[in-house]
Amino acid sequence: MSATKEQKLEQMDMKRDMYQMIINGLREDSASGETYATYNPATGEPVAKVAKGTKEDAERAVEAARNAFDHGKWPRYPVGKRARILNKIASIMRARFNELVELEILDTGKSLAAAQGQVNQAIEDFEFYAGAIVGHRGSVNNIPGAFHNYTEKEPVGVCAQIIPWNYPIMMAAWKIAPAIAAGCTVVVKPASLTPLTAIVLGEICVEAGVPEGVVNIVTGSGSEVGNYLVEHPKVDKVAFTGSTPVGKDIMEKASHTLKRVTLELGGKSPNIVFDDADVDAAVDGSLFGIFYNTGQSCEARSRLYVHEDIYDEFMEKFVEKTKKLKLGNPFDKGTHLGAIISRSQLETIHGYVESAREDGATIVTGGKEAKVDGYEKGFWYEPTIITDVNHDMKAVREEIFGPVVVVMKFSDEKEVVQLANDSDYGLGSAIWTKDHARATRVAKQIQAGIVMVNCPFSAFPGTPFGGYKQSGFGRELCVETLDLYTETKSVLSYFGSKPINMFGI
Ligand code: NAP
Ligand code: MG
Repeated sequence: MSATKEQKLEQMDMKRDMYQMIINGLREDSASGETYATYNPATGEPVAKVAKGTKEDAERAVEAARNAFDHGKWPRYPVGKRARILNKIASIMRARFNELVELEILDTGKSLAAAQGQVNQAIEDFEFYAGAIVGHRGSVNNIPGAFHNYTEKEPVGVCAQIIPWNYPIMMAAWKIAPAIAAGCTVVVKPASLTPLTAIVLGEICVEAGVPEGVVNIVTGSGSEVGNYLVEHPKVDKVAFTGSTPVGKDIMEKASHTLKRVTLELGGKSPNIVFDDADVDAAVDGSLFGIFYNTGQSCEARSRLYVHEDIYDEFMEKFVEKTKKLKLGNPFDKGTHLGAIISRSQLETIHGYVESAREDGATIVTGGKEAKVDGYEKGFWYEPTIITDVNHDMKAVREEIFGPVVVVMKFSDEKEVVQLANDSDYGLGSAIWTKDHARATRVAKQIQAGIVMVNCPFSAFPGTPFGGYKQSGFGRELCVETLDLYTETKSVLSYFGSKPINMFGI
């Protein structure tokens, strides 16, 4: 299917009945003509139709991205020009902030405060990389003799970027901003459940002056479109955020063409409250640590370890505040928790709670589907606290990805460090203590990419985000990310007065 003139991108209302893909700078239907519906998880009602992309569409997008990389202007622009366009993307997003927030809420059922924070961060990501790319440069290296060596940072090429449903616009920004800042071209595959804001972000990129083919957004299933991109010989890099099993599959398939791979995967992050912690701050931070985004967060602090000397005081306050959390109209400022993304995710969450119950755990509060007035057809789950658990239980070892926390008591530092590290995952972690020496000592021993000390959150533009162990590898949201979207070219020159005759003949 070739693009027609009428399809030329002009600004549209963000809220509309039908969302097309973005391929080569144009809005495009699926090659099959098929569409599917995306739903509002808070109400269970359809929001809009979305083009159902296929392999043919993925192929068109890769061709466009390849052509834009090999022959287009973008990788060859001075960095200052790319930076200006990234800032323009940010300023259009800022001007349309409320529309973006509304669309994100409709597609995900998340709360207003969460959506506002995430859209704001997506904007700041573009601003951050507009600045960072200007300072991202090669090096001049000291080597002996009459040699001169310098390195250059060159964009990796065409990047396939596959993202999950929990933070749709933020994940799209974490992927697109550093890649295009570095001069790469991208094909983004949003999660099937939440494609709307990524599509709109693709439109904004084109409107801001990103040349055709540099940012392509292809909707469609992971098994068809995602898999096709991962196996495509003309794709140079895959950046994936999602579940650990899919991450493993992607790594294996990408190996066939030795693509560069970065993986941001699941987690089961420990949250440690020591006996000398400010208990109220730790309660509030632990509450936010697990229930933010309705627990659908890869770095959710879902394993809570509380020192035995303050356990009773902490738990009394923690349970009391958990019971006060408000579920309801996501657009209402007073709502703390939005909906669960789908019926199937809700069932997965409940399955974990049931498994804990069967294993002999105590459900202190929550533990079932929530009934929310006016939202009877939506997907809601009660904020849940589980105690009397141990590390043999599935609910303690596996990622639940919902508003469910397991709580354990500990008695000394060495023991809790060992428990914290007893996990296949290593993404986030949190420590609550007033003792700086202890905070530093424990932070060093925790096997995780992120340690929060007396702090309820972790992700700011500039702070590296990523995992140890089976939480993946590569860091996003930071200056180092630019290294993952660039190759280092080493240029060695000889300036000696005598020619070099290595073979001596
Ligand atoms: P998922 O099932 O792994 O899906 C993630 C993305 O991969 C979706 O776009 C999906 O497409 C696609 N996909 C599925 N199978 C694929 C395949 N075989 N080949 C290529 N692509 C494929 O994960 P999810 O359920 O959306 O998200 C939840 C998971 O993401 C959690 O485990 C969470 O911890 C993790 N996560 C990690 C981070 C982080 O930064 N570390 C951030 C957010 C989320 P469809 O939507 O069409 O299935
Ligand atoms: Mg949806």
